[in-house]
Amino acid sequence: MSFSEIIGQTRIIRLLRRALAQDLLPHAFLFTGVEGVGKKFTALTLAKVVNCHHGANGDSCDQCISCRKIARGNHPDIDLIERDGPFIKIEQIRALKHRMRFKPLEGRYRVTTIINSQHLKAEAANALLKVLEEPPADNLIILTATETRALLPTIVSRCLHLPFQPLSMAEISAYLCKTHSISPERAEVIARLADGSLSRAVALLDGKKLSRRNWILETVAEIHKSRISDLLAATDRWKGDNLDLQQDLEWLKTWIRDLLVQKMEATARVDLLNSDLDNKIKAMASQMSSHQLWQFFDLVCAIQRAMGYNVNKRLSLETLLLSLHTQARGLGKEKDVDFSVFTRERFFEIRS
Ligand SMILES: [Zn+2]
Repeated sequence: MSFSEIIGQTRIIRLLRRALAQDLLPHAFLFTGVEGVGKKFTALTLAKVVNCHHGANGDSCDQCISCRKIARGNHPDIDLIERDGPFIKIEQIRALKHRMRFKPLEGRYRVTTIINSQHLKAEAANALLKVLEEPPADNLIILTATETRALLPTIVSRCLHLPFQPLSMAEISAYLCKTHSISPERAEVIARLADGSLSRAVALLDGKKLSRRNWILETVAEIHKSRISDLLAATDRWKGDNLDLQQDLEWLKTWIRDLLVQKMEATARVDLLNSDLDNKIKAMASQMSSHQLWQFFDLVCAIQRAMGYNVNKRLSLETLLLSLHTQARGLGKEKDVDFSVFTRERFFEIRS
């Protein structure tokens, strides 16, 4: 992997190359952006470039012993710090501080990448701040994070912040066709659903994930015809760990987004995320008001937040389907169901 292989992010790569050419590398970078846009990939490539034995034109050669060791993950001067459990702990930052007291063993730079630094525990963040205040020479620290808001402002201000943009559908689609030999039509469907994230797109190549989305969205699309017993049976089938269920709720949000877009642009050709289900979206959009859809969106968000706690998942999913069923059948037309009662506190009350 080299800078020339990174998909999208041309502005960031240009900036990094210019900093390298002018020998103006800061001691710390902060790469922000959603998952799967190339932050970790770019960090490891930068580690290669600054340590490459034969690099030319501001890129790595990918052939020398240093590049090969970094690619294999066994270069002694290249460290990755990731959360150990729910957090990145102070012991991990202390160990980093200890390593930084010594010169790099083989390379020109010791490069430490802290992955998802929004997971730094408060005391770890304060310890890292001290490291960033007095950075030893020959060290480069790269923090990645989804956004700056979850970090101490003092940490952000001590790094050169480079925001990574979501990848375009064309970039994702071209990558999928080239590397996974899939049809352009399938690549486009996946690229739309990936929402700018290459890792999400690659995960969607697993047919089981798309089948799960199809089942959930088809259940929802037919909900106005369903009997209550069908819905309860659907909740029985709706199983999975927290990550699966969070992803399912994300699918529902893309569905609601498509219904809203369809309602607003009923006569125009609209840009649907679930473009392969456009007929079902058109049919359902005519049955629900925008107000009902926004309320349903709020309910999905409330359940997503509640899923982070120890709530009764089955009851939460039943609530979701029954509420949508009521709205889609027009039972709530005269007086919309007040979804605001489904707050986090409400889910705690129904916790099993
Ligand atoms: Zn090299």
